[in-house]
Amino acid sequence: MDIALAPPMRSRPILTAIMSGRFEGWPSYVLAIILAPLAFISYLWIEPLIASRISFMLVEFAVLATSLTGGLRAGFLTFLLAATLALKLAPFHENLEESASRFSTYAVSATLVIVLGELMRRSQRSAIAIQSQLDWREEQIRSMLQTAPDAATVIDDTGRIISINAAAEFQFGYTAEEVLNKNVSLLMPEPDRSKHDGYLQRYLRTGEKRIIGKGRIVTAQRKDGSTFPILLSIGEFSAGDKLYFTGFMHDLTDRLKAENEVQELHGEVARLSRLNELGEMASTLAHELNQPLSVISNYVQGSLRLLADVPGKPAEAAREALRETTSQALRAGQIIHHLREAATHGATRMAREHLRPVFDEALQLALAGTRPRRIQTRTSWLIEDDAVFVDRVQIQQVLINLIRNAIEAMTAAPRRQLSLSVRPDGVGQVRVEISDTGPGVSDDMAQQLFHPFVSGKPGGMGIGLSISKRIIEAHDGVIGAQRNADGGATFFFTLPLAEDFEGKPDGKGHR
Ligand code: ADP
Repeated sequence: MDIALAPPMRSRPILTAIMSGRFEGWPSYVLAIILAPLAFISYLWIEPLIASRISFMLVEFAVLATSLTGGLRAGFLTFLLAATLALKLAPFHENLEESASRFSTYAVSATLVIVLGELMRRSQRSAIAIQSQLDWREEQIRSMLQTAPDAATVIDDTGRIISINAAAEFQFGYTAEEVLNKNVSLLMPEPDRSKHDGYLQRYLRTGEKRIIGKGRIVTAQRKDGSTFPILLSIGEFSAGDKLYFTGFMHDLTDRLKAENEVQELHGEVARLSRLNELGEMASTLAHELNQPLSVISNYVQGSLRLLADVPGKPAEAAREALRETTSQALRAGQIIHHLREAATHGATRMAREHLRPVFDEALQLALAGTRPRRIQTRTSWLIEDDAVFVDRVQIQQVLINLIRNAIEAMTAAPRRQLSLSVRPDGVGQVRVEISDTGPGVSDDMAQQLFHPFVSGKPGGMGIGLSISKRIIEAHDGVIGAQRNADGGATFFFTLPLAEDFEGKPDGKGHR
């Protein structure tokens, strides 16, 4: 699990330890006290054998060793100790000049050796400092990768996996050992698997960023061969002369599932909305057509009576035609009635639901795409036990109608505040209120607010509120509207809480 950030240090470990500064101070002085006599004795021993100034090199080695270990002071201490011993014990030449020349040569070379030792020690110490900083950064990156909630990998410029975090192991079903040093294409399905090396080569050749720094939804492949969608974000960094890439992989399975669910819900609401519109139109048509149909029927009955006593074949044919007209008029009425029944009752699905998720989903759907309108939304949820027995989609349709109307009413308002409140209302009832800061319901509209085909908007169908009223009443609730303190409209509806249904024998779906 190493992230390569810098080429490894080349120094040998013992030398590194000696020069690390760990033995500075008294340990290096102790070393000087031990090494100086040792080196001097060795010098005395070798000197008669090779009779050369080079034999003093042994002392220089001791000086170098102590200056590497403890710096200038330790180096000089070694030299001074050796020099003192030399003055006391060395069989210096009778020739004073020769002795002085030797001593000054030794002194100069020892000084050079001490300075050299100190310089080497310093450069080694700064290398150690840089290395420990790199180690710290490496540790930091490693721990960031390890604790990242998303899967993450680091690869080198050949695509080789250098590091993989715990989330990635879990997500892909591999252990780190199974993927380290393998090509990262292992984590993707075909055709990307065979093409990935090419993508990398192209980037290294052209520098053209197609995915780096942008993030893209791609397909990943687990060890068991199954695939899943991920949002892949790639970053790059260089260490030494090599490029490395970090890939963060966010599993989108849940998000796509949730999006699909919202999509489905959208579809369901739209479908039901169409059904309800159809039902509303059918019921209005039924109402409107029943009048002329019964007038037709009356006229036909009258004509039949007039023709009752008229003899002859033409009169008989006319009577037959009129009887057929009556039955067709009745049939027309029945068709419309059936259409209305089918449209309004066919899709009802009552179930015990918690109002909160039903409400939240509807709010989310109603607010979809309204960001440019800069609506401020505030919800006060003041009820704990929110179980209701409802047709979820129908209640959502009511909520969406009321919220959408409120948003539309605020189009030209200087302040756009949508306030939603859900609270207990009397015994066993919940009251939902949707308030806006629009102009409020106009007086002439107020009289017929919940009537079908009445709209104050250009191109409005005027169906939403009448459908909402029918749905709420079918749920044994009430719906209404009033002016609020902001001058806008507050629409409300109530629903019985589910406890009330439980005790009743016809507690399921009575409508
Ligand atoms: P539509 O929105 O197609 O007109 P609705 O039945 O939903 O049909 O609404 C009927 C009318 O009620 C609207 O045209 C509008 O004049 C009025 N109305 C509904 N909600 C509000 C509101 N929040 N503020 C002011 N008027 C409203």
